[in-house]
Amino acid sequence: MHNVLSIQSAVAYGHAGNSSATFPLQRAGVNVYPVYTVTFSNHTGYGSWRGPMIAASDVADVITGIDERGALATVDAVLAGYLGSADVGQVVLDAAALVKSRNPEALFLADPVMGDVGRGFFARPGIPEFFRDHVVPAADIMTPNLFELHYLVGHETTTLAEVADAARELRDRGPGIVVVTSVVASDAQDDLLRMLAVDADQAWLVETPMLDRHFVGSGDLTAATFLAHLLRTGDLGKTLGATASVVYSILEQTAISGEAELQLVAAQEQIVNPVNEFTAHRL
Ligand code: PLP
Ligand code: MG
Repeated sequence: MHNVLSIQSAVAYGHAGNSSATFPLQRAGVNVYPVYTVTFSNHTGYGSWRGPMIAASDVADVITGIDERGALATVDAVLAGYLGSADVGQVVLDAAALVKSRNPEALFLADPVMGDVGRGFFARPGIPEFFRDHVVPAADIMTPNLFELHYLVGHETTTLAEVADAARELRDRGPGIVVVTSVVASDAQDDLLRMLAVDADQAWLVETPMLDRHFVGSGDLTAATFLAHLLRTGDLGKTLGATASVVYSILEQTAISGEAELQLVAAQEQIVNPVNEFTAHRL
């Protein structure tokens, strides 16, 4: 069994951050040590929410406590997402470095949660810059959506080839694997949603039907699912296909339910046995 140290937001109502990642990881057979960066009533997409950001020193303290149990040596991957404040970003980098000192094989997947197409930036000032300047060089895997990819590389993309080139550009600045979780391109059919993954030698693309609505928390579900499959298979193409199959199947069940929030519990069978199966192809 694999163990993941997951440093993300918590929401009481609904699913975002660790509240979107922890259960899907567990259902996929991965053990999770969740550490919270904020504990909010609900995700910020509602426009109002309550509850505290956790002080960076408190987040660091929780991680120190895990280390005092000797448990960081058992961590196979650090998963980080919604930071709350830029100071927590430094705590995440310190945690990733400490985990690697305890287990040199451990991976660091950083989801650069900062914004989305249509919504713009939702992360607090300083966080996008922190991801770009400090997290990119330290991460092994990054999972930007298209909006985040454009910010991180500093330019827009139009065609599919340009998106793939931008993913390689980001990879050249640090992370060995870059997954673009929402690819829109002028030269590709616009009723399909694409994810693209690049590593040092390969680029993979997977396509799913487009669902006509937005789902908050889907990026966090995608990063967690990708990590679970990569840890298990070590195969980028298989991992991308499996991720698309699980995430699309959960989103489809959510759309059918008519509920606003991801149906992670009601549709949990999709995490292990998705009704839709998509295969990634080499680009
Ligand atoms: N965590 C919190 C508290 C949020 O409000 C959001 C987005 O609004 C996220 C995480 C990231 O969500 P997504 O998975 O849609 O990128
Ligand atoms: Mg996201």
